[in-house]
Amino acid sequence: MSRNEKLDCLKKLQVILQKKFVLEDKIKAIPADLKAEEVQLKSVREKYQALSDFYENLQSEQKSLAIKYDDAFNKRIEYEKQMEFINTQREFEALTKQLEEARISEQSFLKMRNSKTNELEKVREELESQKTELDALEEKVNQEKSKVDSEISAINDEISTLDEECAAIKGDVISDDLYEKFSNIVKKKDGFGIVPVYGQVCTGCDLILPVQFVIDLDMKSENGEIEYCPYCSRIIYKETLDEDVERSYTFEQLESQKSEGKTTSHDESASGESDNYDESMGMDEEFEDF
Ligand SMILES: [Zn+2]
Repeated sequence: MSRNEKLDCLKKLQVILQKKFVLEDKIKAIPADLKAEEVQLKSVREKYQALSDFYENLQSEQKSLAIKYDDAFNKRIEYEKQMEFINTQREFEALTKQLEEARISEQSFLKMRNSKTNELEKVREELESQKTELDALEEKVNQEKSKVDSEISAINDEISTLDEECAAIKGDVISDDLYEKFSNIVKKKDGFGIVPVYGQVCTGCDLILPVQFVIDLDMKSENGEIEYCPYCSRIIYKETLDEDVERSYTFEQLESQKSEGKTTSHDESASGESDNYDESMGMDEEFEDF
């Protein structure tokens, strides 16, 4: 019995596509740890930036206090010099008062400047320690990133090789459209885009197909046509087993569906009950095209 060449091709493609999609999932999973570290890095960087801004403000406050102190200091020196040149008691009293005020002001600015300098020093230390933490984290994230990049590029190389294998198998036997559609089914249906029908049962979804549908399916396969399961949208083909085995396989499914309360009449199951049918695949109108 000459089987459908397309079906053989699709079975081979399925094996490779399964590997390909496992690799694609792997790529998606890899950067998860990196993402968490990048989020952490962003928050540490923001914290550092905020402290750095605060430090700059302190610096300019400290600078301004230092200038005010210097002015007060110079003023006091100036008054002390003037003391040497006073002539009257009145001048002496006035200058003494000014000198006293200058001293108070000088002391007050000195105190403020020193306190600001101390605060500045503390923040500078904190800033330094945050910078160390930030640098270490940055280094870690960069290393992780380049590790992830090389892992991803290695996997992408593997995927390219698998794509080439697929292209070689596909040849002219499988049209680009069918290949794309099939690849999509394999991806969406957990790696199984082409499955055999045992007896009347689609082994992809375990639902029972109408008798006439299965008879037609066998003929279509012989004619090189592609048929899809009306319930789960997988490509199906009839695999002839020992008659007793086929019958008992169908019977078992029938029994199990009965016990699950599913409708098993052909008419109803063909029109509805398609809980496994994936509308998003949009193949219902194109079933006959291949
Ligand atoms: Zn099915």
